[in-house]
Amino acid sequence: MRRINRQHLKLSLVLGLMGLLANLIPIPLFGNVQLIFGNIVVVITAILLGPWFALLTATLCAIGLFITWGSWHVFILFGLEAIWLGYARRKDIYALYADIGYWLLIGMPLFYAYILLFSSQPESHISFVTLKQGVNGLIYAALGSMLVTIFSSFWNLKGKVKDQKRRTFNAQLTYSFTLVLTISLLGSTLIFNHQVIEKQQVRLDETLQSSATNLGLNTEVFIETHKKAIDNAARWLSLSQADIQSWQNRLSKLHQSYPGFITMLVTDADAKIIAASPFSRLNRDKENTDNLTVKDRHYFQEAFFNQITYVSPVFLGRGFGKDPIVAVSAPIYHKDNASQPTGIIEGSLNLKTFADIDKKSTGTHHQSMIIVDENYRVIYASAALNLAPLSQFTWVESGKKYKTSLDMLNLHDIDNPNPEFVYSSYTLNNNWQLYVVQPFAPLLKTVETQYLTTFAILIFSLIITVVLTRAISQRLTTPLTALANKFAEKGYQDPASYNIDQESPREFLTLYQSIRQSKQQLIRHQLELEEKVAIRTFELEKANDKLQSLVEKDELTDLYNRRYAEAKFRSIQEFCHRSDEAMALAILDIDNFKTINDTYGHQGGDECLRVIAKSMKQFFKRDTDVTARYGGEEFLIILPLCNVLMIEDHLNEFRCKIKDLEIVNPHDDRPITMTVSIGAIVTNATYSESLETWFKEADLNLYKAKNQGRDRVIVSIPGSRQLS
Ligand code: GH3
Ligand code: MG
Ligand code: MG
Repeated sequence: MRRINRQHLKLSLVLGLMGLLANLIPIPLFGNVQLIFGNIVVVITAILLGPWFALLTATLCAIGLFITWGSWHVFILFGLEAIWLGYARRKDIYALYADIGYWLLIGMPLFYAYILLFSSQPESHISFVTLKQGVNGLIYAALGSMLVTIFSSFWNLKGKVKDQKRRTFNAQLTYSFTLVLTISLLGSTLIFNHQVIEKQQVRLDETLQSSATNLGLNTEVFIETHKKAIDNAARWLSLSQADIQSWQNRLSKLHQSYPGFITMLVTDADAKIIAASPFSRLNRDKENTDNLTVKDRHYFQEAFFNQITYVSPVFLGRGFGKDPIVAVSAPIYHKDNASQPTGIIEGSLNLKTFADIDKKSTGTHHQSMIIVDENYRVIYASAALNLAPLSQFTWVESGKKYKTSLDMLNLHDIDNPNPEFVYSSYTLNNNWQLYVVQPFAPLLKTVETQYLTTFAILIFSLIITVVLTRAISQRLTTPLTALANKFAEKGYQDPASYNIDQESPREFLTLYQSIRQSKQQLIRHQLELEEKVAIRTFELEKANDKLQSLVEKDELTDLYNRRYAEAKFRSIQEFCHRSDEAMALAILDIDNFKTINDTYGHQGGDECLRVIAKSMKQFFKRDTDVTARYGGEEFLIILPLCNVLMIEDHLNEFRCKIKDLEIVNPHDDRPITMTVSIGAIVTNATYSESLETWFKEADLNLYKAKNQGRDRVIVSIPGSRQLS
């Protein structure tokens, strides 16, 4: 197992702790949505140290989030992200691109499933929260990447993960632009959206408050008006004691002026109803009415015994139907005795009238209202809320974890921490409460839409950036690559093919021109050099040839010299020996050459030597024949692969040819003639390896020829009879 690098371990622990601390203070975005920045360090460790150190850092960071959010999913979600990023890094994939891939393929689906299964988030909110998690990932991936790039010298670690392959300029430029765009666009989007949302909330709060106040005041006026009406009616009835029978008529008339009362009644001192309106309603229950007493009712007791004008809490009516009602009552006195009531007058408020108030104010804002009495029983609630009158009004403050300036409550799902309504309340002067509520979900939807729009713009901008950067960087890299390729080739190309792209920057044209110039110069130099070398080589070869001929040849006759002939004899003899062939060796000597010299001068003698040499070359014309000047006026002739029987004739032919020659003395143009004597030996090459043996035999024959009178050929064939 590899030993763990202590420096790497230390760095990932320190970064992890920093991330942990940062994750303890998430940035609230809206509602319960928060941004986290601690995970930047995970991206940094993944880029620098690979997957396993990144996992360590991610675990520490997740502890911070676990403390903040109290949810275990962070360990899985961010642990996997760290490993993913680390492996992507080893494959040379940029962190931001890798993170986009992670959140699309694994992170968001996993998170979605987790929330769906284990969290109480409203379903409509889940996709937004999930998307936010992905976008959050992009933000810290981009920031982490940028930190690594900007402070690249700071992370000067031994054994950190390095690129496998050198990256292209194109890729680097595109990535840098994408990073900058992601950070700036997301940053500005978040700040801008945050401000807009904050303002929207303040406005909403104001609207709710003014609605509540408005409705509250309207309600107060409504109650006050009807309280006054009852007050006045009581006083009026007290003054006109007349006959009680006429009260029924009067009550009916009064009721017509106040449609806000659903019913009205008058009782005597025993709380027996003596008049009621509408009368028809009373009639319907005729059999009960006679015994109908309201003695047990608060509105009777308060008005009759405490002698006050009284507004009751809500209660269930009887007699006039079984609706929940609010009663307003006042005492009636005898004309002459203002201290002892003779009965009461009562009006039951028509609770449906509140609907008119409600509609007037709340209709346009998707708002609903609730009025509860001092006992927290519902007097009126907008139909949308589905709260029955007289029911106990129960609610809880909710959305405490939500970052908002709004007050929020739940009416239906009391245990759910997610808010149902935003509200504002107003306390009426009779201690009733009025609530104006607006559903929270549409608000959240609006915010979500805002964010979704900006995220969509971000993605669109990213695509544009990638396309644009590619185009620009190609403008830089294409001509560079073309230049490099073209100038790397040898020799000249078609000049037209050097043309540089119109759209590439001017610097490239300059570069291209100067490189082309240098290359042309280089080629010129090269050509000159090659020419020089060729000339030198030629001269050297010539000198070499000369030297060779000096070594091998005789200067006067241009025949091979003795040294060459001797060396050549050995190779010829060897060759003929191997192939079991015959060969001849002849010595030719000019007769009385001393006399020629004496007669025609030295120059004449030299001319004779030259002419005889030329003739020899012409006569012994086989490639394998060797003719050489052996010394003075003596010549050596070696004839391999020859016909033993023909050789004497052949030599004689040559002898006669020389004899017939007429040489012109260059000194005085006198004709010169001469004869030669030849001593030769012809036999199988196996005869002897030694030139000396061959030579001796030939020389002997030459001697014989001289002795026999010169101008003749004597050939001997050892191992056969001697020819003459
Ligand atoms: P013989 O018929 O017996 O061969 O008589 P010879 O006169 O040819 O023989 P000898 O050996 O007495 O003379 C050879 C002469 O050749 C002597 C020398 O002056 C002459 N000689 C040798 N080399 C050269 C040369 O290179 N040029 C000239 N012109 N004469 C040469
Ligand atoms: Mg001689
Ligand atoms: Mg001689």
